[in-house]
Amino acid sequence: VAGRRYKIVDLPALFGSELDRLPLVLRILLENIVRNMRGQERDDAVAAIFGWLASGSSEAEIPFQPGRVLMHDTTSTPALVDIAAMRNVLAEHGVDPSLLNPVIPVDVSVDHSLAVEEFARPDAISLNLQHEMRRNEERYRFLRWASKTLSGVRIHPPGTGIMHTINLEQLATVVCAETRREESGEETWAVPDTLIGTDSHTPMINGIGVLGWGVGGLEAQTVMFGMPTMLRIPDVVGVRLTGALGAACTSTDLALTVTQRLRQAGVTGDFVEFFGPSVDTLSAGDRAVVANMAPEYGATTGYFGIDRHTISYLRATGRTEDAQALVEAYARRTGLWFEPGAEPRYSRVIEIDLDDIGMHVAGPTRPQDRLRLADVPAALQQFSVSAPSPELPLHPIAIASITSCTNTSDPALLIAAGLVARKARAFGLQPARWVKTSLAPGSPASASYLKRTGLLPDLEAIGFGIVGFGCATCIGNSGPLTEPIRKMIDEGSGKPVAALSGNRNFPGRVHPDLDLGFIMSPALVIAYGLAGDADKNLEAGPIQTTADGKPVYLRDLWPTREEIARCLAAAQDTADYRRDFERAEKNPAWHGLDAPDSALFPWDERSNYLQRPPFASLEAGGLLGNYRAYPLMVLGDDITTDHISPASAIPPKSLVADYLVQRGDKRNDLNVFASRRGNWQVMLRGTFHNRNVINLLKDGLPVAHTVHVPSGDVMPIWEAAQRYRDDGESIVVIAGERYGTGSSRDWAAKGLRLLNVRSVLACSFERIHRSNLIGMGILPVQLPAAAIKGMPAIALGDRIEIHADADALSPRCPIAVRVHRANGTVDTIAAKAAVETQLEINLLKAGGVIPLILDQT
Ligand code: SF4
Repeated sequence: VAGRRYKIVDLPALFGSELDRLPLVLRILLENIVRNMRGQERDDAVAAIFGWLASGSSEAEIPFQPGRVLMHDTTSTPALVDIAAMRNVLAEHGVDPSLLNPVIPVDVSVDHSLAVEEFARPDAISLNLQHEMRRNEERYRFLRWASKTLSGVRIHPPGTGIMHTINLEQLATVVCAETRREESGEETWAVPDTLIGTDSHTPMINGIGVLGWGVGGLEAQTVMFGMPTMLRIPDVVGVRLTGALGAACTSTDLALTVTQRLRQAGVTGDFVEFFGPSVDTLSAGDRAVVANMAPEYGATTGYFGIDRHTISYLRATGRTEDAQALVEAYARRTGLWFEPGAEPRYSRVIEIDLDDIGMHVAGPTRPQDRLRLADVPAALQQFSVSAPSPELPLHPIAIASITSCTNTSDPALLIAAGLVARKARAFGLQPARWVKTSLAPGSPASASYLKRTGLLPDLEAIGFGIVGFGCATCIGNSGPLTEPIRKMIDEGSGKPVAALSGNRNFPGRVHPDLDLGFIMSPALVIAYGLAGDADKNLEAGPIQTTADGKPVYLRDLWPTREEIARCLAAAQDTADYRRDFERAEKNPAWHGLDAPDSALFPWDERSNYLQRPPFASLEAGGLLGNYRAYPLMVLGDDITTDHISPASAIPPKSLVADYLVQRGDKRNDLNVFASRRGNWQVMLRGTFHNRNVINLLKDGLPVAHTVHVPSGDVMPIWEAAQRYRDDGESIVVIAGERYGTGSSRDWAAKGLRLLNVRSVLACSFERIHRSNLIGMGILPVQLPAAAIKGMPAIALGDRIEIHADADALSPRCPIAVRVHRANGTVDTIAAKAAVETQLEINLLKAGGVIPLILDQT
């Protein structure tokens, strides 16, 4: 490329026509193995990958060494706090602490802390940023310390945008030039850009041909310190796309359709790869939206190969001619270029015809529940109240938010919203008075499209001005609700609904007091915001009536494809992504923070935000063994990481708030998400502190309480755990299907470790949380659902006997579980270890990631 030569792993030369039968994702894993491994281990791993071709499935495990790590401020804070604490341990053992640094690049976006406190006013961006800086000042000083002290850690300050948008627009190179020291001297290699991210939506980057997926913060720590991540060669589900999206459809509609179809098909833990003739009809922006929702359809990836649309995207976002040429030349040469006619071997194939897709929303409580607009009122019927408000609709739109990386990174989606706003403004429409409106784009670059097209004033005119650049409403940081909605919630006189362009709508996700939410495209968010009432059928009836009595329908506002394309093309010419990013990186409030730069972080015992955690002194293998345990909690299906370690603001009347107030925390600081703190005492008290958690041990338990079984006393969960620990008793948590769904936050596993939970026994686990449990040395045990359903539920007084001896442990090995009933009978359950790889066994034996890293250091 441009007169330069690169070494490559020449996959076609090495593997001939057999390579064509492998899905693209497996070719990337193959390249990684050939490049990073040696000798017999490499040969075995290569043979295992080609062995996969026989059945499209494999039990073999392979190592994967990603090139970089992506994190956000919520998941990076505990990880960086762990590293700071590990440095302390090294210093206490006479080892130079500055030796401990990540060995691959780590990018951290400070995006999860923006709250929508001010909205629908011209200075909302700067006011919200000021609030954010004030509330998070201590934690941000710590992050600044990390960026000054830990080599390889780059922190992108508040205002630069959402991690996945920045990754698409700035960080991803698709193919990297990597300098390596070989025996023959220095060599420059061209290699695929690969990553892991401590966020479940990391697969968004799959939209531009970069292989990456979400992992827990603990798994990321192993990778940062040079250990590979081990994975079972995945089942690869091919999703064959045919047909073409209709004129009124958006990529959001496609993503919701894919989510529903793949959830029905069951692709949990699988790699998904899109192929077929219609992939070529989708822009890189469309693909990124679909790839982003991989965790919602349950997959590890949602991969699209590299092709002409990838190159166009690199050009549009300002990557150099050389970079574009390198990507194309490399992908074509190494068999990684996507061919629309190619039909590699997949574990199974699912067909999706784009012609069948209409205009959709998903909800009201799960992202996979896709609906036509006409079906929304029926879906809400079951959510009623006995004494409805005479002033507001039964299901008023409380929040209408254009939010999230998913649907605000693609300028086409924002432009469509802007065009709806322009037409609504022309009709003189305004949102209902009870609707909280907001627009938080993925980055300043994507927002600048709205400025250049002149659509921003239209959005502002109807209340959808920009409130900042970050996760905001999507992560539950939606700020206070409007007065009428607050009153309705306090009186219980209705069931308010959120309309958002996010990706998750679990009860309490976007606001602790909202249980209902519909996911939709940004343009539809505006329509619902204007309608103000989720019971309106926007497919058939008017959204609003103008001042002169003319009904305005959705079709009157909806832009044509040509209108969107014209605006996009006009704004594209003058786009300068790099300039917008660099300007945001200069955030003076961030760079003005007075942060320490010593090799050891100066902990402050009085801090309510940061405390040196105890994990670096965990005893090896401490939680394995043969034992009888009391169930600390008995839970049902679909326990999310939000249930385990809530991400929303700390409620003012709660155990956590009481603790903080005792320590002199200022009342208004309680708004700060619990999960952002690097304070293990807060997180210990916050574990399971969610009003939606139902503990089946006993009816009617207060929030975050359980029964201490030996005494029968009802007490806070953490106090019960402490009493068991003091008495030398073991405890476990029992759950149903899909335990640990949702965000990747590792506090959900660390919280259980702090409670001294030895094992979680569940019918199934979500991938990232399962890995986080192992990262904390906690054994996940999979219970056979049929056996559980056929026997009496775990009841007060039952004890669980587990045989999980360290020496006998191997991937997926049987685990003998016996339930000793209070009446003296015993039930036996044929369970198995939910452990996939030898590295995971080593982690469990070491007591978790942190002791293992320290041991290796
Ligand atoms: Fe942020 Fe939401 Fe994207 Fe997660 S999905 S990174 S919370 S915007």
